[in-house]
Amino acid sequence: MTARLLEGRPYADAIRQELTAEAAAFQARNGHAATLAIIVHRPEGDDPTPRDVYARQLRRTARSLGMNTRQIELPFASTAVELHAALDRLNRDPGVQGIIVQLPLPAHIGRETLLDAIAPAKDVDGISAVNAGSLFLNLPARVPATCAAVMELLDRAGIDLDGRRTIVVGASPVVGRPLALMLLQRDATVTLCHIYTRDLPAFTRQADVLIACAGQPGLINGAMVRSGTVVVDVGINVLPDGQIVGDVDFAAVVEIAGAITPVPGGVGPLTNLMVMRQTLRALDV
Ligand code: NAD
Repeated sequence: MTARLLEGRPYADAIRQELTAEAAAFQARNGHAATLAIIVHRPEGDDPTPRDVYARQLRRTARSLGMNTRQIELPFASTAVELHAALDRLNRDPGVQGIIVQLPLPAHIGRETLLDAIAPAKDVDGISAVNAGSLFLNLPARVPATCAAVMELLDRAGIDLDGRRTIVVGASPVVGRPLALMLLQRDATVTLCHIYTRDLPAFTRQADVLIACAGQPGLINGAMVRSGTVVVDVGINVLPDGQIVGDVDFAAVVEIAGAITPVPGGVGPLTNLMVMRQTLRALDV
């Protein structure tokens, strides 16, 4: 029997309609469109790295919903102090509802620079220490968009989490850890696995819901999944031939699982929409 395919695109279409209505209501209420500010570091010299691919996608998504974006370009060589100053201006600007900093930062600016630099209410990808702490304490929080996308997909697909054995493979501060807390908030029984987990298959074979976010192509194979498990593949891995695959051996697991997300086309289409939703919806944090 092959698994139910959990495609993100139909859900993304529905969310897009909802957010378009919310964006119009925001504009009517405030006299201006909801605005997402995006900070991008300009590449140095003739560096061909397309640093603003993500920013371009965000601009396109925002525009399609009737929202505004404001792109702030900083020279690659600018300092952490200059980044802080730019963020401080945006934090105080009442015309800006959300702030995203395009990652990775230039190597000379430590990621910790961002921990307390974005006002928590405008931190629409949930990267600040305050939002991480609020999530930990089960208080209202801005959360990483990828985690929000996973939860949204599970909810829209009608996947029950209450008390179920939920195994998250991957424990990074931006995906696995916050996701485990969000699943716990929803009363799932959560196990967080990582690179040092001994006998990973013993855990994954117990899962009612299995979420792979390790960044390892083919990590979850057919022998690691039992019949009926809901498998969500968050991984985005580019193979040497340019093919994009997840962390799950899709061809094998689709024959065993109860439901499975494809890559691409699973969680991915919802992620940027979650940034927009957090920009549109005010939250006291
Ligand atoms: P990361 O490298 O920061 O963290 C990987 C985590 O997986 C670590 O906790 C590590 O211990 C664990 N891990 C690595 N190899 C493992 C193994 N063999 N067995 C068990 N655990 C293992 O990665 P990240 O930034 O959290 O991203 C994870 C994946 O999610 C990547 O493929 C990334 O591209 C993808 N991602 C997707 C989206 C999206 O919108 N769908 C967004 C962000 C990241």
